[in-house]
Amino acid sequence: MPDEHSLFMSGQKHIHATNAIRENNLLHELAHLLTSSSDLAHILQLFVRHAAEACDVERCAIWLLDESRALFLPSTYHFAQGNLSPKQFQAADYIWHRTALPFDDPIISQLLQHEQGMLSLADLQTSGSQHLRAVAKKFFVCSVLLIALIREGRPVGILTLDNPGRAASFSSEQQQLARTIAQHATLAIHNAYLSQEAHRERERARRLITRAQSLYTIAMAVNSNKDLPSILEIATQHLARGLNVEQACIALLEADQLSIISSNQHISPESNFSPPLTNLPRSLHAAIQGTPLFVPQQQTQGEEKRWFESLGLHHVMIMPLMAGEHTEAEKRHGNDQHRQHIPATEHAGHIHCVGFAFIDYPKKMRSPSQGHYAFAQDIATQCALAVEKARILAEAEQAVALATERANTLDAVFNAMTEGIIVLDMEGRIAINNNTATHFLGLPPDMRPPTIQLATFLQHQPIHSLRGQRIPPSDFPLARALRGEHVRGEYFVTRRADGTERAVEVNVEPLFDGEARQIGIVGAFRDATEQVRVDQRIRGALDTMLHAAEAVSGLTDTKEISHHVLTMSLKTLNCERGMVLLFDRDTQTFTPLLSLGFTEETKEQWLAEQAIWLAPDEGQYTSFRDQLLGGHVTLINAEQCLEQPNPFQTTMILAAPIIHNHNLQGLMLLDRSARLRKEKQPGGTRLLVNPAFNIWDMAVAEGIAQFAGLAIEQARWQQEVEIARMNAETMRRSNALKDEFLAITAHEFRTPLTVILAHSQMMGRILSRTEQIDPIVREKFHESITSIDVQTHQLTNIVNTFLEVTHLNRGQIALKLEAINLEDIVKQAVATHAATSSLHQISYAIEPYEHPYLVMGDKARLLQIFANLLQNAIKYSSHGGPINVILTQYTPSEDKPMIEVRVKDTGIGIPPDAQGRLFERFYRAPNTEGSNVRGVGLGLYVVAEFLRLHGGTIRVESTGIPGEGSCFIFTLPLIKQ
Ligand code: ADP
Repeated sequence: MPDEHSLFMSGQKHIHATNAIRENNLLHELAHLLTSSSDLAHILQLFVRHAAEACDVERCAIWLLDESRALFLPSTYHFAQGNLSPKQFQAADYIWHRTALPFDDPIISQLLQHEQGMLSLADLQTSGSQHLRAVAKKFFVCSVLLIALIREGRPVGILTLDNPGRAASFSSEQQQLARTIAQHATLAIHNAYLSQEAHRERERARRLITRAQSLYTIAMAVNSNKDLPSILEIATQHLARGLNVEQACIALLEADQLSIISSNQHISPESNFSPPLTNLPRSLHAAIQGTPLFVPQQQTQGEEKRWFESLGLHHVMIMPLMAGEHTEAEKRHGNDQHRQHIPATEHAGHIHCVGFAFIDYPKKMRSPSQGHYAFAQDIATQCALAVEKARILAEAEQAVALATERANTLDAVFNAMTEGIIVLDMEGRIAINNNTATHFLGLPPDMRPPTIQLATFLQHQPIHSLRGQRIPPSDFPLARALRGEHVRGEYFVTRRADGTERAVEVNVEPLFDGEARQIGIVGAFRDATEQVRVDQRIRGALDTMLHAAEAVSGLTDTKEISHHVLTMSLKTLNCERGMVLLFDRDTQTFTPLLSLGFTEETKEQWLAEQAIWLAPDEGQYTSFRDQLLGGHVTLINAEQCLEQPNPFQTTMILAAPIIHNHNLQGLMLLDRSARLRKEKQPGGTRLLVNPAFNIWDMAVAEGIAQFAGLAIEQARWQQEVEIARMNAETMRRSNALKDEFLAITAHEFRTPLTVILAHSQMMGRILSRTEQIDPIVREKFHESITSIDVQTHQLTNIVNTFLEVTHLNRGQIALKLEAINLEDIVKQAVATHAATSSLHQISYAIEPYEHPYLVMGDKARLLQIFANLLQNAIKYSSHGGPINVILTQYTPSEDKPMIEVRVKDTGIGIPPDAQGRLFERFYRAPNTEGSNVRGVGLGLYVVAEFLRLHGGTIRVESTGIPGEGSCFIFTLPLIKQ
């Protein structure tokens, strides 16, 4: 500093003055400095320089307090090299910026507690704390002046002054100046801090505004008509910008699959696959928790890591998009417990994850701040809202589409219905009607309900009954239904615009509102024209058939029946001529029985013409004949013939088979060919009645022909009955004659036979006693007597049978009943007959039972039953073979135990046809004819009658095949002891 005033003042004064001036100048400069710049570093730089100069020291430094780290960090310093070597200077300078002074260092604490906030240390290298001594050493500090920079009672920094490498005390002026400068520096620092804070606040406010604007923009987008991808695109852009990151993207979760919807940067389509959420554990965790998660690159793995990388994501903030509201249960129990990862659609209403925002954090930003989280979360909420809105909208649209479709379908169905539907209110106004109803009632097609009163309309549109009478509007079924009448299945006739008349069936039901009040009626119309027509036709056809039935009933002559039927059919079916032919089953041909409408000549010609289908050559027009033989009514006309050339161009014949019980008896042919020809003639007039036969004609013809079949069959049957009746009478008479003959024969033969037998026996005895006869003559006599004996016995048997039959016929047989064991009878009968035939093996089998085979019977008759059956078995199995008698017991349903006896042979058997008559008198089966087995057909009759008298039954089983034999089965009631 120049020393220009020293000449005019005393030394001390001068120094004071000079100091004052210097201080003044300094203050002035500092004040100027403080106002000239807001750059703290620059100001402090100037401060330290001024302080060094003003205090006349080589080094001045300012340290600023970093509260968070409790350190005073070097801020700026002024360093005049002074007596340091350049090397020392450089070394000190080099490390100065990396040195900090701990807040809790004892020297620093001493300084901060110092009343003046100033500490002058003579030698820091010896008096300082250990830490400061190290610092002092590094920076060559000896004497140092420390001044605390304190603002509003709080330290903001430290100002240090020293002369490197030199020990010297600081004068009070120096200290004073230094303190003044320090105060200003404090002010500057404080101001700078304030301004920094203000700047930070501004920045924060700006960021908040920007974010708020972002959120506003997104919210506006969510509430606009934009589609979801556009909204998410906007959100992504704002997210990236607001968080100042390079990459952000939004993925939506659907059916457990994630797919990227929007991204801040382009992502290659290949990388945009859709991984299942379950494969992304960190994202899944965030979704389940419903809270964001920051995952540095090293903490992701596997598919999640690969997927993130493909999307350009490294250090990722995973922000789940949570939609829905907490349910009551969730609120009660806390969210996390109940929130599960379930597909969004199943959650509607509950809080659930619908997707994610993924934000990539550059490494330098470390991790997201609270503000970042909050911002991202706000955007995520908006995105989730947008997703929910889109889902609800889609559902609503779908519902609307469905409803519209249903309405359209119903409408279409309603209008496509062949039933006409009309709804009237209680005043008779049309509320709803479909097209068919419009059509039926002839309502104006452009009529829109409810504009019209039905009754008014009906006045212009007359409605008729089926009989053709006009129905007054007040009697119209709907009008009556409105008055409370029950209308079901009524008919009326309407005339349409095209002049056609339709028969309509109407049914009416009352219509009620939700409170069961009648609010109108529903009428349903059905086109019954065809049905009415069919009804009339059926009635007509039935009438005709009834007439036919009446006409032919009581007739027994086939020709007469046919005549009636043909006449009636020709008339009913408008045919000019017809014919009835009879079918011969043996020759399979038809022969004419009678014809109507022909002359003798035309008949022959006509028949010859019909021969091509009636008696066709091999393979020619056989289909007509086949149909008729199959019993089907058949049309003979050109249409039915597929062959070419078609010979039926002028034929129109209806052929109805006369049939009964599948037996074809004949044909009825009805001919309209003449009419067809007339119509086909050039210039021919079109006839009123179509020459072609229709289905009704066919049905009527079929019905009449069936009646004819029935009548003819009946006639035939009656004839047969007559014959049978006559036969029965003849038979009865002849049997009576035979019976008479029997009685006489039996009676008349009995005595002579006894006499012959007695005489032959006597002759035998005489012969044996007479000795003087030639032995040869004796032998001859003996043979003759034996022969007389045998024959007489046979004759006696026959006569006995005759006698028995006569007695049976006259009811003169009385049984001598006693309890008999049938086993004994069987044994006896079998023993007797076994000896009579060497060809047969006669045996018996008696099934063991709890009760003996006891019957109440006449022993002689029972023996006779067995004898007859065994004799027949022997007789009708002339080749021999086994004959078995089997005894069993059984209890039929009535609980009366029975004995069953089977007599089985292997003879000629009995034809099934003959089995029914086997037990009649004089009946012999046809297979015995021609054989030399003799008999009169009375044995089985006697057996059956004896069994009947014993309360038993008899039947036969046989296939009728020779060699398979017969089995006679008879039963007798068992008695229990
Ligand atoms: P017949 O004197 O003719 O034998 P039956 O009354 O005993 O008179 O028998 C009536 C008919 O029953 C016989 O003519 C025969 O045709 C038939 N018949 C009876 N028994 C047998 C049998 N075991 N096998 C085959 N046919 C039999």
